[in-house]
Amino acid sequence: MEYTQPKLPYANDALEPVISRETVDYHYGKHEKAYIDNLNSLLRGTDMEDEPLEEIIRSAKGPLFNNASQAWNHILYFFSFSPDGGGEPEGELADAIRQQFGSFEEFKRLFEEAGTKLFGSGWVWLSRDEDGKLYITQGSNAENPLTQGLTPIFTFDVWEHAYYLDYQNRRAEYLHRLWDIVDWDIVSARY
Ligand code: MN
Repeated sequence: MEYTQPKLPYANDALEPVISRETVDYHYGKHEKAYIDNLNSLLRGTDMEDEPLEEIIRSAKGPLFNNASQAWNHILYFFSFSPDGGGEPEGELADAIRQQFGSFEEFKRLFEEAGTKLFGSGWVWLSRDEDGKLYITQGSNAENPLTQGLTPIFTFDVWEHAYYLDYQNRRAEYLHRLWDIVDWDIVSARY
């Protein structure tokens, strides 16, 4: 089985001005594509070819882990946005955020802080455990909370390639602006 890169549910310029068309062209069109192409070539002819991607991420090491996880992480990232996004979650996810972090504003502050303080390239995650408890975690490089027994429902990419064309070194500003395009209906459905 070969993985195919899922088509974005919006045009490459639809997330402007938060994320420019040029960034989507490179980040989705080159970076995400390369991870998926590499994943396919690493899997070809191995006995892991038909395993679910999540299982590969939980068990693989080295280049296979890096490319499998980066493929999965980027798909989650790009499918968390909408040009009509922003606002706040509703329903069970909103309740869980309020219960655990005090308020939606405080949750956003903690999430931005985790992303800003991560040294080097990586990801900031919102995940849930089997009981629905939420976790904000950081991961370097291709790290993924799936390997810690958690289910990620939302992530911000803090590799420089995600923001440098639009924000240069201003990672905190990039993270702060991303809230304007988050599609909380999709994230709530994952929860
Ligand atoms: Mn990326």
